[in-house]
Amino acid sequence: PKRTQESVEKSKQTSGPVVGSSPGPGTDKHGAETPSEKKFCFKAAKEHAVPEDLDKVLENKVVERRWDLYYINVSAVEMTRLDDTDGEGIVSKSVSSHSDLIPGVYEGGLKIWECTFDLIDYFSEAKIQFTNKTVLDLGCGAGLLGIVALKGKAGKVHFQDYNSTVIDEITLPNAVANCIGDGSRMGSGGGGKTQEPPSKRPKKAECSPDALTKCRFFSGEWSEVSRLLSSSNKPFSKYDIILTSETIYNPDYYAALHDTLAQLLDKNGRVYLASKAHYFGVGGGIYLFEKFVEERNIFRTSIVKIIDKGLQRCIMEMAFKDSS
Ligand code: SAM
Repeated sequence: PKRTQESVEKSKQTSGPVVGSSPGPGTDKHGAETPSEKKFCFKAAKEHAVPEDLDKVLENKVVERRWDLYYINVSAVEMTRLDDTDGEGIVSKSVSSHSDLIPGVYEGGLKIWECTFDLIDYFSEAKIQFTNKTVLDLGCGAGLLGIVALKGKAGKVHFQDYNSTVIDEITLPNAVANCIGDGSRMGSGGGGKTQEPPSKRPKKAECSPDALTKCRFFSGEWSEVSRLLSSSNKPFSKYDIILTSETIYNPDYYAALHDTLAQLLDKNGRVYLASKAHYFGVGGGIYLFEKFVEERNIFRTSIVKIIDKGLQRCIMEMAFKDSS
């Protein structure tokens, strides 16, 4: 879409949450934030290469840590360019809110949403095994789910976000930060900064920079990404595990999401989906999506965990009806 001042102003008014800089439970506890109240536009898919100079990826970024996961502090991101598809010159500004960051339709990927942490908890509780699995983090935003899978020795991890700026500025740097690992290249001598003193940083990375060779990064609308993957020259195997958190807020997206899952999941694969029970303002939610999936009659679903703190949140597992 061509970016005009009017469209930027409009997108500021109607898309994207007002965000806090700290991730995790409580960031949207009032239920007032919803990722997008706009209908998404068609957005072509593209693959983002991992740059050779990993230090450069973290240049001028503030890296924070929660548990053993590194992530870029978005409120401190100094944006120097616009979303590629907008194709308009260079801008440089400090970010005051996430929706300022991306012109056009922004789908919420700059913030780490609380269901991400629910799903990470669930992985340990349910002892989900990632070893040698082919994993997709769909609607990844910061990409922490995929990064956990990578640390769990997944064979391949692919990340997808609607917005290419999210992939370039957040997802890819987060993957790099977690693969570089011990903080030694992220302190004052390195590209980025971590807010914790060296004694508090994890001593040893569970991933090495080599783990990045297992990762691929994609931006674009779901059906476009699905098409790109299936038609690509590179060999493509379906995913053993698809992880997706806070992606079912808008019922307008259900068909694209459902069909993408159906197209990309291995016949015996599993989808782990984390969501709020209901998204006020946009209208989606876990029970509506469950009904949608049931009507399509391709997947069986089961709600494997309910988190009843404040706004109810759930983890759903999906598998093909005829799978083992
Ligand atoms: N999973 C992350 C989390 O839990 O922090 C980000 C959640 S964010 C609220 C929703 C994500 O879904 C966005 O990152 C966006 O890229 C993706 N998304 C939503 N609708 C999409 C669509 N129609 N096509 C592609 N991606 C979409």
